[in-house]
Amino acid sequence: MAPDPNVAKIANEGHYADSFDADEEVYDESKERLVRGMLQAIGEDPDREGLRRTPLRVAKAMDFLTSGYELSAEEIIKKAVFEEDVKEMVIVRDIEFYSMCEHHMLPFFGHAHVGYLPNGKVVGLSKVARVVDVFARRLQVQERLTNQVADAMMEYLNAHGVAVVMEASHTCMMMRGVQKQNSTTVSSAMRGTFQDDPRTRAEFMGFLQQ
Ligand code: ZN
Repeated sequence: MAPDPNVAKIANEGHYADSFDADEEVYDESKERLVRGMLQAIGEDPDREGLRRTPLRVAKAMDFLTSGYELSAEEIIKKAVFEEDVKEMVIVRDIEFYSMCEHHMLPFFGHAHVGYLPNGKVVGLSKVARVVDVFARRLQVQERLTNQVADAMMEYLNAHGVAVVMEASHTCMMMRGVQKQNSTTVSSAMRGTFQDDPRTRAEFMGFLQQ
């Protein structure tokens, strides 16, 4: 059977593309140099086959994982806000997120639950998840991440109140030190009516338990 040129092309764009590409490709020289130095410092040989393109891959991954610095929650929210006379609480539950702890630069990840009480304006639901990403894709501590999401929603949506609960597993705890594999960290930030009115808060927490 004649080789299907499309199959070869797909293979090249996939996993194998890495090893076929020219070694000379440079993505971000300064970052790649640092990763190379790190590999040497841990006793690895950065020139061995499997590691040759690792500095480039790490540089690209780092840029993605910290891309939140370049993004603006204000822009994302304000572009997707629309007037709507909604009086009820809006909740977006189980938003998956991935972040990196600023103490070890190791991932922590989990779910965010965001609720707000609209004040004449609502925002597209997918944008709530994007706001979480804006702050998650930075070096973070979970508590600050939680507060930043709440503050951005509160300020740019002009909501009556905002509640954010985040549950996360921290690989820096799971993989090293105390090695508590099964512990999760829960953080919350309440603003406006969620802070002032226990019933509003209880209603929100009730939804999360369903
Ligand atoms: Zn850590």
